[in-house]
Amino acid sequence: MSTPIIDDTLRRQIADGLAGQFKGDIIGPDHAEYQEARQVWNAMIDRQPGLILRCTSTADVVAAVNVAREHGLPPSVRCGGHNVAGKGMSEGGLTIDLSGLREVTVDPGRQLVHAGGGCLLGTVDAATAPHALVVPAGIMSETGVAGLALGGGIGWFSRKHGLTCDQFVSLELVLASGEVIEVSADSHPELFWALRGGGGNFGIVTRFTFAAHDFGPMMRIGVSLYDEEHAAAALREYAALVPTLPRHVGWHAALKHDMPALPFVPPELVGRRVVMLFSMWLDDAADPAGEEIIDRLCDVGESLVKASTVMPFAGAVQHLIDVEFEDGHRYYTKEAHVAELADEAIDRLVDFWKDMPMEGEVEIIGLGGAIGDVPEDATAFSNRGYLLWLNFAMRWDDPALDGEYIQMTRDAVTGLKPWTGQGVYVNMLNFDEMDRVVEAMGGPEKYARLGRIKAQYDPGNLFSVNANIVPAAVPGVTPAPSAP
Ligand SMILES: Cc1cc2nc3c(=O)[nH]c(=O)nc-3n(C[C@H](O)[C@H](O)[C@H](O)COP(=O)(O)OP(=O)(O)OC[C@H]3O[C@@H](n4cnc5c(N)ncnc54)[C@H](O)[C@@H]3O)c2cc1C
Repeated sequence: MSTPIIDDTLRRQIADGLAGQFKGDIIGPDHAEYQEARQVWNAMIDRQPGLILRCTSTADVVAAVNVAREHGLPPSVRCGGHNVAGKGMSEGGLTIDLSGLREVTVDPGRQLVHAGGGCLLGTVDAATAPHALVVPAGIMSETGVAGLALGGGIGWFSRKHGLTCDQFVSLELVLASGEVIEVSADSHPELFWALRGGGGNFGIVTRFTFAAHDFGPMMRIGVSLYDEEHAAAALREYAALVPTLPRHVGWHAALKHDMPALPFVPPELVGRRVVMLFSMWLDDAADPAGEEIIDRLCDVGESLVKASTVMPFAGAVQHLIDVEFEDGHRYYTKEAHVAELADEAIDRLVDFWKDMPMEGEVEIIGLGGAIGDVPEDATAFSNRGYLLWLNFAMRWDDPALDGEYIQMTRDAVTGLKPWTGQGVYVNMLNFDEMDRVVEAMGGPEKYARLGRIKAQYDPGNLFSVNANIVPAAVPGVTPAPSAP
């Protein structure tokens, strides 16, 4: 279905209807902030929404949802704008922008964090760090909390504490009807199950309450870099050691097109094609046991350089890759769970990386640990058992290269099929993978359960600009098909 278009007449009608009740910004194509407001992370997504309603409160979100419902405008919902398929921005229709909902309050006594539905990861980290607390989330500061958490949320602390959605205590949710409800394990439990991995299908979250954990503010990290000659050997050692690590150690690999100027990188290696191993001690940074194990991980293989250091987590570690993945470049990503990081798989990865013309990196993300403590049927999030995930995060600037580079990335992932597992991360579903939503949701049985919950809370499929769950058939209700 194509998204309904908002023309001048409808725009005026909506603006008039919102007068006096909507306190945020009503941004049409003539608004001074329109060009900036329509930008998302991926420059390949160049959409021209008919109207952006930038909300500042739950009441604003209710008003915006009422507009969407009353005018038959399935809205795109934007938090951090990092959705790889660009689902946060509408083409011609309505975008509900939550960037005015970024308040964070920390209750250190109860170790709870209340975060507005438009927060970025960095907003939350900056608020929790002074209390030596952390809400486990992603690996950079600019990703939106809402998109990330509702689809699961993997990152530095996943091995120790599980996914971001595993930290949900309660959520304030604006339903398609405009009703505001509080969802928790005790209140709307079936919906709570669905929100832990089911994405933005069920309403707009205006406030998350997360369980926070003691950490920091300092973090011990270790880095080692390898050239083409020694990369495969280092990755083989990595593959052998990852399963032996305690869950308070995280270890990732990144096959980088060009090494950015990070604090621990000597100038002669900046811009070089290298493999980086990145380890982190997820406990007290001053603990000698942390230094010992991080040093040991830095020692694998024949590195060009290695460094073990202590840095503020929120102020430094969480910003290390912000520049590499800044807004405004063309990006194509592809995720796959790793069944086995066999020698041949490593060789294929290294062969691809050695010649890849795209900038960016191939990431091998060390997960496992606490993620798998939660039973598969306890949340909508699925395929918890994998120890390693792969993510191809490719970047370039010339639109003429889109087709070739996308195909090259797809082919690389296809070539790794013998070693990849089942399922795919819903948050990494790209524009060409929307036929994989059932797979991302864990298969037909879980998807059917999600469809029944969707039918109860959003029977008309108003929230369809996402990795869409179609409402299960309800007599007398015809859901709108999902919009792009
Ligand atoms: C550079 C980069 C780094 C990433 N790193 C990680 C990582 O470390 N860990 C990880 O797990 N994932 C990571 N991701 C993937 C990320 O989780 C998804 O792209 C996610 O969709 C981004 O959320 P967002 O709020 O920024 O996106 P947006 O594009 O703003 O929103 C995406 C979707 O989320 C839904 N949504 C947004 N806000 C709300 C809300 N308040 N209520 C209901 N639904 C809402 C909507 O359906 C919307 O279409 C990364 C992505 C990028 C581009």
